Amino acid sequence: NNTKVGFLGLGHMGGPMAANLVKAGYDVLAFDPVPAAQDQARQDGATVVATAAEAVSASDIVITMLPNGRIVLDLYNEVLSAAKPGTLFVDCSTIDVADAKQAAELAAAAGHRALDAPVSGGVAGAAAGTLTFMVGGADADFADTLPLLEVMGGKVVHCGGAGVGQAAKICNNMLLGISMIGLSEAIVLGEKLGLTHDKFFDVVSTASGQSWALTSYCPVPGPVPTSPANNDYKPGFATALMNKDLGLAANALRANGVDGQIGQLAADIYNRFNQDEAGKDFSAIVTDIRKRSEG
Ligand code: NAD
Repeated sequence: NNTKVGFLGLGHMGGPMAANLVKAGYDVLAFDPVPAAQDQARQDGATVVATAAEAVSASDIVITMLPNGRIVLDLYNEVLSAAKPGTLFVDCSTIDVADAKQAAELAAAAGHRALDAPVSGGVAGAAAGTLTFMVGGADADFADTLPLLEVMGGKVVHCGGAGVGQAAKICNNMLLGISMIGLSEAIVLGEKLGLTHDKFFDVVSTASGQSWALTSYCPVPGPVPTSPANNDYKPGFATALMNKDLGLAANALRANGVDGQIGQLAADIYNRFNQDEAGKDFSAIVTDIRKRSEG
């Protein structure tokens, strides 16, 4: 395999994603400013370089997995001029749709190609190579990146043009946040009315109120033994990340004039919960709703 891959951002997600590319035979030039991330990448068989520009200049495809849109845009501004003409930039970070479009425009203006390719599946999916990729950008660029994404992912969907991968990600996670809050309110109401969790699950899991939040990720212990509720709400999917994604969704609702009252409310509710419980799984919102319903 002759494709040279630059990989910028070797954190919880990027580290194992880069490791899977190495395992699949790609030549990975990796950069992250944090020494511990560099050490791990070296152990995983990547070539760790001293600057982002160094990783970019020798690569055909550059993958970024970074904390937020500001950092993605700053890094693009820093490294685009170092890249060979026509280099393909693939941003896998979860960022604002508007920032994703701007990143694609910056890349194009510098003579390069770009995709947004955010993921779901968390750290476990990154390690196992089973992430879901939601991709925005041109058909030819998608086709050129697909083999690489299939190494890191189990499902890859080309959602549309620039920014539409990010759109799929925030639409899904907005709906997940909303449904977890709605489910949790229904569970706490059931508790008040004398409905046990088992009977709630028995009825709702096959009735019209059914949801993934209930049947795969039940926020109270018992009915779904693998859900974080059975493990003291250890994530899983941390409240901090849900809070981030709902903030991005709320931005997009406002920027596009959508009457998204429940989406905005979900963002507000998780923002409040995040102030105390950022490290807990997002399904712990049920404990907060229960606490606020006491008295
Ligand atoms: P993380 O904070 O663990 O990793 C980010 C890495 O980027 C860090 O190692 C940091 O040092 C590095 N970085 C910062 N600035 C850099 C720069 N200029 N150049 C190179 N590297 C730089 O975060 P994460 O959990 O790996 O998440 C990364 C992205 O993936 C985020 O956008 C997040 O929203 C998204 N995401 C995370 C999860 C998850 O479960 N953790 C799931 C889906 C999506």
